[in-house]
Amino acid sequence: MSGARAVLVLNSGSSSLKYQLIDISTERVLANGLVERIGETAASLKHTVAGAAGADEDHRSEHPVADMGEAFSAMIAAFDAFGPSLRENAPVVVGHRVVHGGKRFFGPTVVTDLVKINIEDLADLAPLHNPANLAGIEAAQKVFADVPHVAVFDTAFHSTLPAAAYTYAIDAELAEKNRVRRYGFHGTSHKYVSEQTAEFLGRPLAELKTIVLHLGNGASACAVDGGRSVETSMGMTPLEGLVMGTRSGDLDPAVLIYLNRKLGLSFAELDAELNRKSGLLGLSGRGDMRDVVDAAAAGDEPARLALDVYAHRVKQYVGAYIAQLGGADAIVFTAGVGENSAPVRALALAGLEALGIRLDPARNTASRERGARRISSDDSAVEVLVVPTNEELEIARQSLSVL
Ligand code: AMP
Repeated sequence: MSGARAVLVLNSGSSSLKYQLIDISTERVLANGLVERIGETAASLKHTVAGAAGADEDHRSEHPVADMGEAFSAMIAAFDAFGPSLRENAPVVVGHRVVHGGKRFFGPTVVTDLVKINIEDLADLAPLHNPANLAGIEAAQKVFADVPHVAVFDTAFHSTLPAAAYTYAIDAELAEKNRVRRYGFHGTSHKYVSEQTAEFLGRPLAELKTIVLHLGNGASACAVDGGRSVETSMGMTPLEGLVMGTRSGDLDPAVLIYLNRKLGLSFAELDAELNRKSGLLGLSGRGDMRDVVDAAAAGDEPARLALDVYAHRVKQYVGAYIAQLGGADAIVFTAGVGENSAPVRALALAGLEALGIRLDPARNTASRERGARRISSDDSAVEVLVVPTNEELEIARQSLSVL
């Protein structure tokens, strides 16, 4: 039996490897998986094979996985043991998520030695991500030596930001020499979701002004004008902007100086504080929005405040982006929180009727359907939608597009 022409999409982190094998012609996921806790004593692997009529088969195992090379061996072993066969569904291209493309990369890029050097050179801007992404590319090139590898950068979609949006008002020479500027992230998701929005509304992308709210574990907002990112909430790093699971988002930078001076906290400690111990977790002791919403509903005050701060910040960005875009046709929620949490959506857009934004409470809370859906009322001037993101599919499409 001959298999599908496939794309393998890889997302290599510092201690994890996520993969998805996608059939090119149907855009159907054939299998996906996750190797977690790489480098620890017991790594775990989950490999899911798509079955007929959505009946997926999960296979889980635990064993030591020392490094990215061994993670790839574990992935290949899972394909061999549980299918689908990588010989029959051989990838024609391997697409890699790479977090930071700096100013150099503004689209999907076939990986060459020079591209790898550039990804490595950008590591000081994304020390947790780019080295891990590069390790994934190198391990994958060993296993899939005969096919092209394509890097798809999280920053690329935001390469259209105007200078007024990407420039921090600090010493210009200091900023230029050290590449200090806003880059933006989640670009693959913002691009995919804004294109899906145009399709759902049946309107040309070129005519649409859209605000995409990617609310997941990490969260960012993006103002998209005619398919181009013109403003986004994450900055030089993914710390700026919205409140996230464990990240603070916007903060007066002097808070860092103050805490350093007053408590002697080192910058490494402050980095951990703002990236890993802040956001919903710092405010309420819970980093997962489901727990925060449940606790707030049960009367837990810190959880209530966490929810309020979160929604307040989202609303602030919606207002700012309506101003930057000169009006908006659509506001779109996506990612884990955005797709699933009706209470967060309702709180974030409450009281915006004067701006033509009116949610339909029944549509907002209707049990989750697959695919894009409208949650604004018929008399809302601005369309409010929920559009599921699919970064892997977007990486697969972009990887194919450069072949
Ligand atoms: P993502 O990064 O897009 O995978 O989003 C993951 C986050 O989505 C989780 O950490 C949860 O906080 C959140 N999430 C998932 N389902 C729900 C839900 N039903 N209600 C609220 N938050 C949710």
